[in-house]
Amino acid sequence: MFNKKSPLYSILNNKCPSCHEGNFFVTSNHYDLKKFGALNDRCPVCNEDFRREPGYYYGATYVSYGLTVLFGISLFLLLCVVFSLDTVPFIITLSVFLVALLPIFFRFSRIIWIHMFVKYKEFKKN
Ligand SMILES: [Zn+2]
Repeated sequence: MFNKKSPLYSILNNKCPSCHEGNFFVTSNHYDLKKFGALNDRCPVCNEDFRREPGYYYGATYVSYGLTVLFGISLFLLLCVVFSLDTVPFIITLSVFLVALLPIFFRFSRIIWIHMFVKYKEFKKN
């Protein structure tokens, strides 16, 4: 769907920001609740360091906040404006979705955060 060199390809497939081939997370299952947030220490393909420095991923909370607000506004427009739903059912629906989508927002925020600082480098296999 996307060019393999595109950051969007790498983000949607949870791949390394540097080579777009190695897996960023230990597991590819968003809902493996024991390991959904576990990162590989280094890229298994290009050896890019994913653990950069202590506290590096605190900045991902800002990305997570942005994703959550964007999702909330989109859901509000869909339910309250298009389907004329009241506020209370909207808040209940939003709460259920936010809990259900928490692992996905968590992972996307981390991988978007690292993509802001690590650029794609063509990796040549020997
Ligand atoms: Zn890599």
